[in-house]
Amino acid sequence: MPHITSITAIPVAIPLRTPMKLASEMITSAENLVVQVVDSDGVEGWGEAASAPTMTGELLPGMVAAVERSIAPALIGRPSDDLRPANKALHGSIYANPGAKAAVDIALHDLVGKRKTRPVHTLLGAAVHRAFPAIRMIGPGKPESFVRDIEQALAAGFSHYKLKVGAKVRDDVDNANLLRRTIGPQCHLSADANMGWGVTDAIEFLDCVNELDVTYLEQPVAEDDLEGMTSISQKSAVPLCIDEALHSPLSIVRHADAGAARGAGIKLIKLAGYSGAAEAERLCRAYGWNSTYASKIAETSVGAAAVLHAAALAETVDWGVSITNQYLADDLVQQSIQINKGVVKLPRADGLGVSIDTQKLNHYRLDG
Ligand SMILES: [Mg+2]
Repeated sequence: MPHITSITAIPVAIPLRTPMKLASEMITSAENLVVQVVDSDGVEGWGEAASAPTMTGELLPGMVAAVERSIAPALIGRPSDDLRPANKALHGSIYANPGAKAAVDIALHDLVGKRKTRPVHTLLGAAVHRAFPAIRMIGPGKPESFVRDIEQALAAGFSHYKLKVGAKVRDDVDNANLLRRTIGPQCHLSADANMGWGVTDAIEFLDCVNELDVTYLEQPVAEDDLEGMTSISQKSAVPLCIDEALHSPLSIVRHADAGAARGAGIKLIKLAGYSGAAEAERLCRAYGWNSTYASKIAETSVGAAAVLHAAALAETVDWGVSITNQYLADDLVQQSIQINKGVVKLPRADGLGVSIDTQKLNHYRLDG
């Protein structure tokens, strides 16, 4: 019986094309965990997860330790042609650590997909989507570069724009106006405050952008401020989307029951991989919510491919899909996932559908 023989955790740091300013942090490089799983026939699977302390509480050295000390010992020797036993062992191996678990889960799916000569999404169910509107994130910057970035994205064909807000409300309102003016009335516009505001800031922002057709506002207040989310939702017609507040499928139940949100940003790192993402999607459907699939800023084409296979099964992708290898100065695969005219396609090759470039991996690894 083919079985898992090794699981290797590789910490990497890859520079961003340009630094990205979020409400509480400036990101200049992506610190990610790459995982390689190998089986007794020499078949390899690869996975990736960003370290996202503000989202999952995980730092990169801790993710490496979780894989090496808890996850790998629980999985080695398990079958590599059947996901169920490995999946059960993965989720029982250690409490929490959803990012580390996601990286291993993605690698397991890549391996099993390659063994069965099938793309990962076929292991998850029946694909509903094979092409997705890609979101372009717009960070606040100097007025000249702000408009230039938007014009470049427009020229590249992007239809979905997400403005990073959560700082001074007046500045964010000005940026939202400028963004809407530049992209025109047809493009999809959302905003993400990354927990940067209080309730009054969020309500003031939503009042001021009333005419701008903002489709949703993501995580305006702290991840544990359910009451705040509820009171903003009661005062505005713009749906709120939970992101940092989504720790498990239960977060959706809690927010839906309180009338606190109407959408969820589904990231594999928050939900410990594909089974958590599928349950989150099921609950979104049950509550009549929207979902938007995303990588954290920033993951390589490994993370991008991984999230597209999950998004293929979403009920709707109207809110767009955020793949973030577009913000990296380099990648870890031989052929990057491409966005063409604002659309990204579901990979068709076996497994994740991307091939690791070992030279690049060696160049960016932090433990080499
Ligand atoms: Mg977000």
